[in-house]
Amino acid sequence: MQRLDQQFIDNQWVRSRGSRLLPVINPYTEEIIAEVTAGDTADVEAAVEAARRALPAWRTMSGAERAGYLDGFAEVLTRRRDELMRLSSTNNGKVLAEAGIDLDDAIACYRYYAGQARALDARQGQQVELDMEGVEARCYHDPAGVVGLITPWNFPLVTSAWKLAPALAAGCTVVLKPSEVTPLPEHALAEIALEVSLPAGVFNLLFGDGEGIGAPLSAHPGVDKVSFTGSNRVGEAVMRAAAGGSRGVSLELGGKSPILVMEDADPEQAADWVMAGIYFNAGQICSATSRLLVHEAVAAPLFAALAERIDALTLGDPLAEGTDMGPLTSSRQREAVRHYLRIAEQEELDVVRDERHRQLPVQGYFLAPILYRDVPLESRLWQEEIFGPVLCGHSISSEQEAIELANDSDFGLAATIISGDATRAKRIGSQLQAGSIWFNSDQLVLPETGWGGFKRSGIGRELGPWGLSSYLEVKHIVGPETPGN
Ligand code: NAD
Repeated sequence: MQRLDQQFIDNQWVRSRGSRLLPVINPYTEEIIAEVTAGDTADVEAAVEAARRALPAWRTMSGAERAGYLDGFAEVLTRRRDELMRLSSTNNGKVLAEAGIDLDDAIACYRYYAGQARALDARQGQQVELDMEGVEARCYHDPAGVVGLITPWNFPLVTSAWKLAPALAAGCTVVLKPSEVTPLPEHALAEIALEVSLPAGVFNLLFGDGEGIGAPLSAHPGVDKVSFTGSNRVGEAVMRAAAGGSRGVSLELGGKSPILVMEDADPEQAADWVMAGIYFNAGQICSATSRLLVHEAVAAPLFAALAERIDALTLGDPLAEGTDMGPLTSSRQREAVRHYLRIAEQEELDVVRDERHRQLPVQGYFLAPILYRDVPLESRLWQEEIFGPVLCGHSISSEQEAIELANDSDFGLAATIISGDATRAKRIGSQLQAGSIWFNSDQLVLPETGWGGFKRSGIGRELGPWGLSSYLEVKHIVGPETPGN
């Protein structure tokens, strides 16, 4: 059994000062596959010191030079793709094909930010157009400094790529803390850093939980900014910790995203997109479109098509060919979802499909794909993020009602619109409060487009040029015009 009791600090593997070890579990076999240190404040001290020492040289390196390292990350991930897919699948429980999508997403992200790092050189010192004679202003983009990056367990290697790639591109040095539930895939990032000869201290990787690493990292005065992805509860704690010293935060938090199926949609086609939006990754997706707003004219055929597709899903070994859905990532997450299923029972929700409709594999943290229809708007299942394979349907009778109910949420991460009329879909999209809005498609996540939410879904944006900006400080140098400059 693997023992992850070492931290990666200053390009060295050093023994963690933490005395607690946490089990890392394969959610399909329920076996302990590794042990990981819970970490300790002393680990954070050492990692932040290393990152601070590395900052002056790294931040003054050209963007083009930094891009070379990011391309290196992409190349090694590409070469190790198959092995890391299996590892991700084993640690997280996601089916192999989905792990492949994750790897491709991560690789595309490192490549994209290599391009952004190169482009940054040309953006330095650009003249700003002024409405004043004889004055010159030039704009520069400096790195934010040492950044603390904290990620959850649902998309290993992806959520870290969305932070690490732009942070390194910007010239920041990094302390990354992956989730203690899925530490194995991120372990590879330290191996990659060594393989591409990343200068010592630029990337530090700390294993541990919230108490051992997350909280001290968020509160550390040597950390200039914290970028966090995870739950609202912890995101708010991170924000409070970073408030000491008025340090910056970026937060990617929860969601309760709607999917709108209008009366001009083809129910069969719509059903495929609805399924992809909720049962992918066993529903453990921050952007899961877990609120289905369906026009009453197509509700009956849509629910019939969904029931048929749910029945056809194969649940089982995530590594086996032909498996559509794996187990949930932890027994804890399964319990959290079951809590909502008990509420649904108390509320006597109208069940289309639940546990009673399927034989589950005997081992593994499985849950059946669940579908309710006519869920009341005041139900907790309609309002709260469940983070599992649970879809709640509600019928609407007009476009206006669909828009109002879609926006009637504390969250605003994503939305999908399905309509036979693309112009209409875009018109509806322009009125929705969400960072990512898809129409007539699966959830296409592209490195060039932004990621992040309105309202309680977070603060700031990842990906695209906005992802880079969140690790940059803008600086202007202003003075008398210098001829020939
Ligand atoms: P979580 O908030 O429990 O944990 C996230 C990370 O924070 C983990 O690494 C954890 O160890 C760490 N942590 C725990 N306590 C901490 C503390 N006090 N200070 C600092 N760090 C601490 O979330 P989770 O269960 O791992 O992930 C599920 C949540 O993440 C869901 O709410 C989901 O919506 C959200 N999420 C959001 C996005 C997005 O892009 N918006 C993406 C993925 C997941």
